Amino acid sequence: MSARIDKEFNGHIEQVDVLVVGAGMVGLAFACALKDSGLRVTLIERGETSVFESLGMDCRVSAIVLGNQQILEGLGVWKHLHGEAMHSMRIWDDQHPGGIRFDVDEIASGDTSYDALGYLVQNSHLQAALKKTLLPYDNIEILCPATIAKVEWLSGHVQIELEDGYKLAAPLIVGADGGRSWLREQADIGVYSRDYKQSGIVANVRPMIPHHGIAFQRFTASGPLAMLPMKDGLCSIVWSQFNPDVERLMALDDMGFLEELNLTFGPMLGRIEEVGKRAAFPLKGQLAMHLVRPRLALIGDAAHSIHPLAGLGVNLGLRDAMVLAQEIVDAKKYGEDWGDMSVLNRYMKLRMPDILSVMGSMEGLHRIFTSQLPGLPILRGLGMKAVGNAGAMKSLLMRNSTGLTLPVPKQVG
Ligand SMILES: Cc1cc2nc3c(=O)[nH]c(=O)nc-3n(C[C@H](O)[C@H](O)[C@H](O)COP(=O)(O)OP(=O)(O)OC[C@H]3O[C@@H](n4cnc5c(N)ncnc54)[C@H](O)[C@@H]3O)c2cc1C
Repeated sequence: MSARIDKEFNGHIEQVDVLVVGAGMVGLAFACALKDSGLRVTLIERGETSVFESLGMDCRVSAIVLGNQQILEGLGVWKHLHGEAMHSMRIWDDQHPGGIRFDVDEIASGDTSYDALGYLVQNSHLQAALKKTLLPYDNIEILCPATIAKVEWLSGHVQIELEDGYKLAAPLIVGADGGRSWLREQADIGVYSRDYKQSGIVANVRPMIPHHGIAFQRFTASGPLAMLPMKDGLCSIVWSQFNPDVERLMALDDMGFLEELNLTFGPMLGRIEEVGKRAAFPLKGQLAMHLVRPRLALIGDAAHSIHPLAGLGVNLGLRDAMVLAQEIVDAKKYGEDWGDMSVLNRYMKLRMPDILSVMGSMEGLHRIFTSQLPGLPILRGLGMKAVGNAGAMKSLLMRNSTGLTLPVPKQVG
């Protein structure tokens, strides 16, 4: 990984193979997937990511499903990470004490068994591990902090100019700049958007009883509360609530907040005794109207954002990154122009079914669990019971949601 040495630009335009806007988890994973491709990749990141610490740990946490953990292992990233294994998941709602339970033995297939359903990682640790993996690679460059002043789509290439006058050009620019993507806006791509009128409160907490690698999710009429297992007996909470309630909960002192948290979560882990700093993130469902345009592709949250109730946002983004990288590598191999729509459309067609299916499920789950229609709580209870007793179907459902049934892109397989 190299850094730019300041020089007199004198109108010089640096030619690279792929430009990437945004070096978050998805942008960096995309660069990792291209590290051995021989292509010159330049990422432009506008700022150092700020880490939000709560009880001494980043409270921006992601559940990485098994299929994606395997991809990160294939890329050489996983050895730099210490994820907390999630062996089991318990889901219930406030009207039915029984709920549903998913255990790691249920995803075993033939002779293959697994250690975990997925792993919890701190976002800042995943980013650091991705950067560490890229360190030996001179073909990958990260310009940070850097602000793009202008982007122009010209014949056969796209050109950007940074605020300091530095110019770069490439056959393709990739937008990995998050939900409020600047690049998407410059390309005049609109979004289908759904404002949940909710925010997710995140914080780290310490319960009295050890979590034993179990992730808990309680659905309430006002939104889900997830309690995710982390190192040192801590749990990371993601508590989605409608905005007026979020304001109220955020205004409480720690004692008041713990009181409400204990009441909502119940006694599964004993009393929750300590809470660190809290932050609230507005929740929006969003899908870009186009994933690709000539010489442009969107990945990660720039392409789609989903409700965090199943913790799948970055997982979808990582799969975008792998598939796009694979299409670019294949195009290079067969002498194709990877900024051309014939190549980019292949990426779009491969990704849309997964994106739409995950977005659709999240929307459905959100509606089912927050709707107050008469009779729905009973149906919900019956549904959970039916899935819980469904044997082979439950196992298939779990293998699908852990990403194990999806094909692994070639260069990382
Ligand atoms: C409360 C909450 C909990 C979540 N939990 C989970 C979970 O458990 N599992 C999961 O899979 N997902 C989860 N998600 C979703 C996950 O956080 C996102 O899907 C993920 O962060 C998207 O990564 P990204 O790299 O696409 O975008 P981002 O993380 O937004 O990164 C974008 C990067 O681009 C940079 N950037 C932006 N604009 C510019 C510009 N103009 N120029 C240069 N750089 C720019 C930013 O500085 C940033 O570094 C959760 C989300 C929320 C809100």
